[in-house]
Amino acid sequence: MLMDTYNRFDVTFTHGKDSKLYDEGGKEYIDFASGIGVNSVGYGHPSWVKAVSEQSGTLAHVSNLYHTRPAADLAARLAKLSGLSNVFFSNSGAEANEGMIKLARKYSHDKYGAGRSTIVTLNQSFHGRTVTTLAATGQDSFHKHFFPFTGGFVHAPANDINALKTLSSDICAVMLEVVQGEGGVLPVDTAYLKAVSDLCRERGWLLLVDEVQTGIGRCGSWFAFQQAGIIPDAVTFAKGIAGGLPFGGLIAGEKCKDTLGRGDHATTFGGNPVCAAAAMATLDILDDVLNDVKSKGEYIMSRLNELPGLSDVRGMGLMIGAAVDGNPRETVCKLLEAGLVTLTAGTNVIRLLPPLVITYEEIDRGLEIMKEVLK
Ligand SMILES: *Cc1c(COP(=O)(O)O)cnc(C)c1O
Repeated sequence: MLMDTYNRFDVTFTHGKDSKLYDEGGKEYIDFASGIGVNSVGYGHPSWVKAVSEQSGTLAHVSNLYHTRPAADLAARLAKLSGLSNVFFSNSGAEANEGMIKLARKYSHDKYGAGRSTIVTLNQSFHGRTVTTLAATGQDSFHKHFFPFTGGFVHAPANDINALKTLSSDICAVMLEVVQGEGGVLPVDTAYLKAVSDLCRERGWLLLVDEVQTGIGRCGSWFAFQQAGIIPDAVTFAKGIAGGLPFGGLIAGEKCKDTLGRGDHATTFGGNPVCAAAAMATLDILDDVLNDVKSKGEYIMSRLNELPGLSDVRGMGLMIGAAVDGNPRETVCKLLEAGLVTLTAGTNVIRLLPPLVITYEEIDRGLEIMKEVLK
């Protein structure tokens, strides 16, 4: 029996096609959730299925003691798409962030010696569920159990540059999301991001961007930081990278590309050939739809603005949130019942993360369901 760690909805899905899901009774649902931002290319995309089938029939795993073509090719492609340099592959978002935290601390230790290891993260942030990434997460509700947490994290309010300027001198890095996802779909101000970037340069802090949710096309560019006009020292990605398989990683810029050397960091499954082949296929598919992500998002947001019971509609690309009157889980349950899969975030927010390949026809059907349920 499964441990009861999730507040699961009362539905059992059996399969999906494009941006639609089907349950055991054959009922069809429009998907505005993508398995929490994972299924960026929808369900059963032929070229994704082909890549995964072929790679699993050729070489599924061999460990990082050897070279494999899919991981090497994918690393080169991600370096190019991000404008950064060297890639380390992991299996999840939390694990990617753990790697980025280790990178920042080692970089500082190598360069400045001991005693400069604190990482600043923002209030309302979310960075994962391991003991260290929970400590990094700037929400008190995540800090209730599991003591002792990893030390060396301080939290600062978003969009307040002075709060960062007055911090003590033992800082090595600032880590943030461009749009805070789990925290409530809260876009961080571009002016603030630029100011943080300048401050990091001035103080010799690394700028770390957690793009586990915002990255790989979700916000309408390969990485959301590219729309803010900043260049981080390192960035993480995970959710949408492999179109449904567990995968993630970190990309380091020129300054810290060699910080983690042989033996400094490792993971058994990272860079797994099947996941890497799935990621290559995902990027190929996204190449053709990335240009439409922003306009699809703007279309959805403009339609949401017309619906009753929703306010403060915001987002970036196909990462969209709106405040709901009443309990957001109740709204999500009603929408599910009516055939639309959505998510919550923060305390009062309904969150939409549709597959990036979703068609306008599917979007309209989803919006019709929302209109019916919310009226
Ligand atoms: C989901 C998420 C994580 C954690 O990723 P897992 O794969 O669940 O470990 C970390 N950071 C952000 C911004 C996320 O959205």
